[in-house]
Amino acid sequence: MMREATKDEAPVAVADTFGRPLRSLRLSVTDRCNLRCAYCMPEEDYVWLPREDLLSFEEMATLTGYFTDLGVDKVRLTGGEPLLRRDLPRLIRLLLQNRRITEIALTTNGILLADQAQSLYEAGLHRVTVSLDTLRPERFRQLTRRDEYARVLEGIESVGRAGFTGLKLDTVAIRGFNDDELASLIEFGRHYQAEVRFIEYMDVGGANEWAPEKVLSREAMLTALGRYYGKIEPIPERGSAPAQRFVLPDGHTFGIIPSTTTPFCSTCDRSRVTADGMWYRCLYATAGTDLRKPLRAGMPADDLRAFIRAGWESRRDRGAEERKALERAGLREGGLIGIEKLREDPHLEMHARGG
Ligand code: SAM
Ligand code: SF4
Ligand code: SF4
Repeated sequence: MMREATKDEAPVAVADTFGRPLRSLRLSVTDRCNLRCAYCMPEEDYVWLPREDLLSFEEMATLTGYFTDLGVDKVRLTGGEPLLRRDLPRLIRLLLQNRRITEIALTTNGILLADQAQSLYEAGLHRVTVSLDTLRPERFRQLTRRDEYARVLEGIESVGRAGFTGLKLDTVAIRGFNDDELASLIEFGRHYQAEVRFIEYMDVGGANEWAPEKVLSREAMLTALGRYYGKIEPIPERGSAPAQRFVLPDGHTFGIIPSTTTPFCSTCDRSRVTADGMWYRCLYATAGTDLRKPLRAGMPADDLRAFIRAGWESRRDRGAEERKALERAGLREGGLIGIEKLREDPHLEMHARGG
């Protein structure tokens, strides 16, 4: 077996079948959530991952270490709603003992953020992204089935106070729902020194309310924003970041993640690990690899690393591009996976694998 890098050596560079490196990891810390966003968790109740299967923070840090040995340097904590997992700052401190990690970010719906922002900052969390789709409390309630808009605002306000810079606000742009709020959201972000990123509505997991006509495309967003602001210029950027960034005439910036109309699979360097240790090499993948079982069975570190390496080297996923190809063939209609199948396997849900 090939020897892997030790902590003081450079990580072993691995590439998948399309030459894509392994660089970023989305670590889902829980599949539970305190909202029921229509595009993500349209049902009230779900089959939840069994509690005894959830990885401990120590297990998460150990698994993350194998990924960083193979090239990962950015980790994003997600869920479900990650702030529902008790004592997240402890996980952050554990992860930061790994010197290969250069950035730990958090994606949250913001509801519990005001209470936790300070301790997350003190634990060493680098960046925060809050998901916010509307500035209208009634719309928020309609979309999320919970009356929590005020707490999300408090959460957003707490980020800067705690010491964080570089706040991002992620908005799923939905035609006929919030397409009249694009500029308002950008202006709201400006007030909090935050960059807004508009995400095209994706037909993943349980997003069974997805329909092609609800997708607000990058082009449609740019046209609407151009009418409001005047000339919008793209910011040339290279690399694997999914967001394309743009600058307004006054210098303020925003991003668009055109995951549906212009998939970025060709540069995708992301892995996803669910809260119970299933590894997915694509957001659209219907089969994952169980890392919890070998970890708990005591598989030696070198073997587990080699297992992950082999998994990445055989990766052929390009889910969003394949969905796009189906669309060209006139075969893309509803969501990715039917509700019956979702009930059989909770891992297939967006909220299990972290978006
Ligand atoms: N609960 C946290 C939150 O909402 O920020 C983290 C998990 S959530 C699954 C991560 C991101 O996925 C959120 O920004 C959410 O808006 C996005 N998302 C969920 N379903 C989506 C869909 N169908 N299309 C596009 N983005 C989606
Ligand atoms: Fe909404 Fe995030 Fe919860 Fe999904 S996981 S329902 S996007 S808050
Ligand atoms: Fe990466 Fe899969 Fe998303 Fe394409 S669809 S960008 S391969 S996660």
